[in-house]
Amino acid sequence: MSARTITVKENILGANKEKAEINRKLLTDHHILMINLMSSPGSGKTSLIMRAINRFKDKYRIAVIEGDIASSIDADKIRHQNVPAVQINAGGGCHLDAMMIKKALDSMDLDRIDLIFLENIGNLVCTADFDLGAHKNVVLLSVPEGDDKPRKYPVVFLDADVILINKVDVSPYFDFNLDAFPEMISSLNPSAEIFPVSAKTGEGMDRWFSWIEETLK
Ligand code: MG
Ligand code: ZN
Repeated sequence: MSARTITVKENILGANKEKAEINRKLLTDHHILMINLMSSPGSGKTSLIMRAINRFKDKYRIAVIEGDIASSIDADKIRHQNVPAVQINAGGGCHLDAMMIKKALDSMDLDRIDLIFLENIGNLVCTADFDLGAHKNVVLLSVPEGDDKPRKYPVVFLDADVILINKVDVSPYFDFNLDAFPEMISSLNPSAEIFPVSAKTGEGMDRWFSWIEETLK
C-alpha cells in the first residue's frame, strides 16, 4: 500500500472509531449490552443467536441487528421468534461501519432492550478493522473450517473477548485439534475465553450462556 492509501485508511478508521464510541455510550446509557459476532460465512452465527434467544427470551429483552451483503433471510428467522431484528444490507460493501449501526439503533426502542446481538457480515478480514460500538467481540470458528484460521486471519482474533468453536458435534470427521487450540490462541490473544459448542446439539452451551449472564451483570 502507498503512504497515501494508508493515510486515507487511517482517516476512515479514525472517523469510524469516534462514531463507534458514540454508539457504545448510547447503549451503556440505556443499560444495554451489545455483543458483536464475527465469523466466516456459514460458521453458525444465526443458529447460535437462535439458541441464545430460546434460552434467554423470558429473562432478558433481546434484539438483533443482522448484517448481510444482501437479503433479509436471517432477520426473518429471528423475527419469527418474536424478537425484534433490524436488517442492514451492506450492498456492495464487505463490512459494517459505525454509522450503519447508529442508524439501526435509532430505529430501535432502546428503553425496552437489555441485550443486542450484532450479527456481523460473514467475513474475517475487514470486519476486524471496524469498531461498531459493541461492548464485547465474539469470534466464531467452526470445526469444518479448520484450526488454522487464527494463523491465516490473526487480526480478528486479537481483540476477541470470546472465541466459540462451533460444530464440535462433527469433530470426529475433521482434523480440527481441539486440545491444541487454546495454546495456539494464547500466543495471539492470551485473555480470550474459548468455548467449544454445538449450536445444533446444544453441547457446551452452558459455559457460553453463563458468560453472557455474567457479562450482563
Ligand atoms: Mg447468519
Ligand atoms: Zn470490507
